[in-house]
Formats: sequence, structure tokens, C-alpha cells
Amino acid sequence: MLKEKQIVKGNIQFIDEDGNGVFYVGKDKVLVRHVFEKEQVQARIQKRIQKGYVAELIRVDQKHPGRIKPACPIFEKCGSCHLLHMDAKAQSDFKKNQLIKLCKDAKLPLQVKDILTMEEPYHYRNKMIIGFQKDRNRHIQAGFYEEFSHKIIPYKRCLLHPEICDEIVEEIVSLMEKLRIEPYEEDKRRGLLRHVLLRYGKQSGKIMVVLVINQNVFPARKNFVNALLHKFPNITTIVQNVNTRKTSVVLGDQERVLYGKGYIEDTLCGLKYRISSKSFYQINHEQTQVLYQTGIDMLELTGNEKVLDAYCGIGTIGMSMAHKVKQVIGVEINKDAVNDAIVNAKINDVKNIRFICDDASAYMKKAQQRKERFDVVIMDPPRSGSNEQFLSALVNMKPKQILYISCNPITQVRDMQYLKRFGYVGDAMQGVDMFPNTNHVETICLLSKKAQ
Ligand code: SAH
Repeated sequence: MLKEKQIVKGNIQFIDEDGNGVFYVGKDKVLVRHVFEKEQVQARIQKRIQKGYVAELIRVDQKHPGRIKPACPIFEKCGSCHLLHMDAKAQSDFKKNQLIKLCKDAKLPLQVKDILTMEEPYHYRNKMIIGFQKDRNRHIQAGFYEEFSHKIIPYKRCLLHPEICDEIVEEIVSLMEKLRIEPYEEDKRRGLLRHVLLRYGKQSGKIMVVLVINQNVFPARKNFVNALLHKFPNITTIVQNVNTRKTSVVLGDQERVLYGKGYIEDTLCGLKYRISSKSFYQINHEQTQVLYQTGIDMLELTGNEKVLDAYCGIGTIGMSMAHKVKQVIGVEINKDAVNDAIVNAKINDVKNIRFICDDASAYMKKAQQRKERFDVVIMDPPRSGSNEQFLSALVNMKPKQILYISCNPITQVRDMQYLKRFGYVGDAMQGVDMFPNTNHVETICLLSKKAQ
């Protein structure tokens, strides 16, 4: 048994799926963040969780050659970045090795390719969610959530955000002080402003501000909006979102446009998109283009294919390849995203694409029952991955190729084990670093049916 505040020493055995370095003190498992495998470390025990003891890193006695000084003052506390202690090469090696281990453990014989990385791996996020609180002196602070908690860690500048967005957040804090807008306090369930969500159009430079408030009326709304617009002409729309529920989900159902069109526009892979506050849009513009192009190249399309783009969001993948195939059908559960997708097809004059608002699994089941066939199925599910209903209908449909794109290789590998049982296997796994400095990575695999 280890005690709180006890200093322990050890050799990092491996990094777990959440990015924690793991070592053992006798039989006790210690988890420590921001370390490399094989490093010799000293750490202070903080608390016990189910998986083991969480400890704070206090010293690294034998440093990995890829270790660098983290370029952010709140790295230790903030839950957004995990890998600022690694240089670029160490980060890509780390991500690649995690994928190799994952495939090996799952007995999937995939060649894991070198990760496609970003040259400038900072300021890439085009969506930001900020929370607010008051400090001891009752001054308002903006910040992010601490990892595994609801505590806000105040910040000024974030290495992942476009700089202008942090300037907007700073101005919002000063307007809150001036107009006496109270930050929402989760435990007491009082206060007005719960979160601010910003979307930044990388290509257009336009910005959307979503103010998530805890009641239907927003006092001082006009002054707030006018002051913000005056200072930042790049803000092209401001939306009020009402969320009065006791939930960690950021956005509520009710929205009201306070200024502009209520959505933002951006260009991706040469096509124009409209994106509403609740629609999913890939958060790294540059790397999304790399991801989509990689997928399109893997497919070697002939022009005759009927393609299903499952979990299609606002239709970006399907739209990017529509000119190379016969027909695309996109399926997506989020109504707002489907509405955006339909408009996006019109704006870009893409005529051979159609969108359906449905649960992807329910759609697949119905499509299979009416014996609909697709040559290519692209699937890009959320972090939780797909499910048996979807996958069993998929294998019964017998597409020539399945392109599986994922933001969570753990669930992707799980689903690919299922597909392998029905003869769908791939040769390679390509990682695309959509989330530099964090321990996340996007992966893409092309599967086809091998003769058994
Ligand atoms: N392919 C898109 C979106 C990927 S994110 C892109 O590249 O931008 C995953 C998407 O799956 C989200 O838009 C989410 O709303 C959607 N989704 C989540 N669960 C779903 C379900 N059960 N059926 C259909 N779509 C779902």
C-alpha cells in the first residue's frame, strides 16, 4: 500500500492507452504523466484510482533523448496537451509505436506506416471550448478543464489555438467583468455564462462565437455583442445557445442567432462548406486535407463506384471524392449536420451525392434488407467506434472495399477484428497526426475481402 505524498522511484515500463507512464513499486501500479518508456523517474503519490496510484512527476533521472522543456506554463495541469515534453520525432515515434502495439495485440497483421505529421504543429485547432470561473479575488478567469475533473485551469494563450481566438476570449472575460455577467458555477447551478465555443475558418479567417448560457434571457446581450463585434471584425456570427440542464454536454438544444447567419463558412479540399454550431467538423484543417487525400488515393477509384459515406458529418469526405465516382450516399445522425451537408452539395454544385439523416446502423440494416449494394463503404465513426449491427450488415452487403477512418484506433482495431472474421482484411494502417501534442491520432485502413 502506498501513501499519499509518498515519493516513489521507478523505471517506466510502458505508456498505457490514456498516455500514462506505468511503473511498479512492489505489486503496486503507479501512473505518471509526461514521461517516456524506459525513463527512470521519481514521483509523488497523489491519489488512488481503480487502475492504480496516480502520481505527480517530480524528477527524471535518466532522460530520453527526445525529451524537451514543455513550451506551455500550464502543461502539468491542463488536460488538453499530453506530449509537450516530446520533440516532434519522439511524438511521431510514440504514436507509431502505440499503433504497432495495438495491431500486434489484436493479431491484425497490418504494416503500420510512418505517421503523416504537420510541419508547424501549433495553433491548428479550429474549434475551442472555454469555461469560466472566479478566482479568490472574484476576478473572472477563462480556462480549460483539468484532465479527469471539472476543475477549470486558467490560461492566457494556448499553443493549439489560433492566437486571435485567445484574444477574443480575453475580451469576453473583460466584457463579463464590465457588464457583470456571472460565470456558471456547476456545483451551485447558478450564474449565466456556461461556456464559449469558438469556430475559426482557417481559410476564410472568419470566426463564429457561440455563447452557452444557463437561462433563456441574456441580459446586456446587445452591449456584449456590439462590443465584441467592434473589436473583432472577423467575427461573422454570434449565436446564443441555451443549456439549463445538469450535464457536462456543452451545447443545449435551443439556439438564437444574435448576429450574422448562424453558421460559419470554410473551404476544404477546394470546396466550400457551411458549418453550424452543432455540426461536426474536423478540428485540424491542414491535416484533414492530408487525411482525405490519403483515403482517396488508397481507394484507386475508377469512376463507376457507388459509395456509402457512413457517419458523414457535413458531407466533407463524400463531397471530396464525388467527382471521382458514380454516386455517393452520406448517412449521418445529427440533423443540423445533414442540413448543412445538403446545402453544401448545392453550393458546390455536386449533383451525384445524397444525404440521409439516420442512425448509421439502422440505415445499414434497412439497406441490407432491400439488398442495396455499395462498391465502397467509407466509415468514420465517433470515438466509440461502430457496432455489431452496422458491421454485420456491412459484411452481408459485400462491398469491394471498406475505408475505415477513425479518431480512436482502439475501437477501430476492435471493429476490424470483427470484420476480419468475415474475410475483410487490410495491408496497412496509416496514422495521420490530426492532433499534434496530444496523445490522439487519426488512423485510416483500407480493407477488402480476401479469398478464404
Ligand atoms: N466523416 C465526417 C464526420 C466524422 S465524426 C468528417 O470527416 O467530418 C463522426 C460523425 O458521426 C459525427 O458527425 C456524428 O454526428 C456522427 N454519428 C455519431 N453517431 C452516429 C450514428 N449512430 N449514426 C450516424 N452518424 C453518427
